[in-house]
Amino acid sequence: MSGAVSQRACVYCGARVVLNPITDAFHIVHGPIGCASYTWDIRGSLSSGDELYRNSFSTDMKETDIVFGGEKKLSAAIDEVMAVHAPKVIFIYSTCIVGVIGDDVAAVCQAAEKKYGNRVISVKAPGFAGHKAIGYKMACDAILSLIQPFYKADAPKKGVNLLGDYNLAGEFWLVKNYLEEIGVHVITGITGDSSYKSLCAAPSAGLNLVQCAGSSHYLANLMEQDMDIPWIKVSFYGVEDTSTSLIRIAQALLDPEMELKARALIERETTRVAPRMAQVRKNLAGKKAAIYVGGGFKAISLIRQFNELGMETVVVGTQTGKKDDYEVIGNLVSEGTVILDDTNPAELEHFMKDKGADILVGGVKERPLAYKLGIAFCDHNHERKHPLAGFDGVINFAEEINSSLNSPIWKYMG
Ligand code: SF4
Repeated sequence: MSGAVSQRACVYCGARVVLNPITDAFHIVHGPIGCASYTWDIRGSLSSGDELYRNSFSTDMKETDIVFGGEKKLSAAIDEVMAVHAPKVIFIYSTCIVGVIGDDVAAVCQAAEKKYGNRVISVKAPGFAGHKAIGYKMACDAILSLIQPFYKADAPKKGVNLLGDYNLAGEFWLVKNYLEEIGVHVITGITGDSSYKSLCAAPSAGLNLVQCAGSSHYLANLMEQDMDIPWIKVSFYGVEDTSTSLIRIAQALLDPEMELKARALIERETTRVAPRMAQVRKNLAGKKAAIYVGGGFKAISLIRQFNELGMETVVVGTQTGKKDDYEVIGNLVSEGTVILDDTNPAELEHFMKDKGADILVGGVKERPLAYKLGIAFCDHNHERKHPLAGFDGVINFAEEINSSLNSPIWKYMG
């Protein structure tokens, strides 16, 4: 993973996470080839249309470019892209070395926009400028720059955008189906399964739904300030949060009929998943979970999901959780649960051992830690290939926790 030498991934990585799922955009990584190794297959965001985003393009800067500057090489790369693909939007990511030598990427982008009449957006993301969360902001600024020209103050507002969902394993489609069933028109994901065209329609939304607050809270605020679009936080992980999110959306849209439809959907789906949940719950009673994820809202949903499974959360931490998230977490867990903010592997190891956690839920960096400690692991990050959102995700999650925790392998660990 880009910048993985640090505790957090780098700024460029954060920006790429948010922008990469735009399926028909061109992503040029201006820097040495290594940064470009961060590609689609690390994330697994799915597309219903274009597949261009699954490629990775780099200016492949060499020593001479570092000494004499890389602007000409970047311009030549844009010319080549326009000649072959002519995309409506190109994102240019400045990486560490570009930040050091000071190529004027913004000027190259401006010149290219003038020449071709398309959007060529500079994403100033040298890895050393901070960490992943700074990259999220850079990406949000880039999205705002893309969509702002399409905002019309007097146009009617209708439909919703789903922010901070990256369509991992098709999760955006699951949620979109629920929303459409209850009568909510989904304009676009930002940025799961999005396209240039769908993003340009985003300013016409009447409401923004924010799934991953860590990456998208900033954009939701910008869209509220600049385009007068209110937003609410939602989560589609677990029965409880999926259900309350659907009802809250209907209520936020002030539509009683929609709320009735949401309640009917919840009733049907809850009944459908209940028998399997009851079976799995028997195998998991009394087991202890540790959670370490990016955002506070996801951690909250996971605690509720473990409660639904009859398990106790003994350690819970996040990278970007806010004060109000921690207040909710504090109210959800039992006395004695360890709550960690932006921790490191040594602390996580210490508290998991101390509390006797049986399973860790986390991302790519936590997996080796769990396995080294000889405990089960559930990947709740971007590498997984099955959806964990919505009611289908409830079953997938329960089955994964069950098969991982009750695998015979743990008997052979020393
Ligand atoms: S931008 Fe910098 S920290 Fe990030 S992958 Fe490239 S060289 Fe590494």
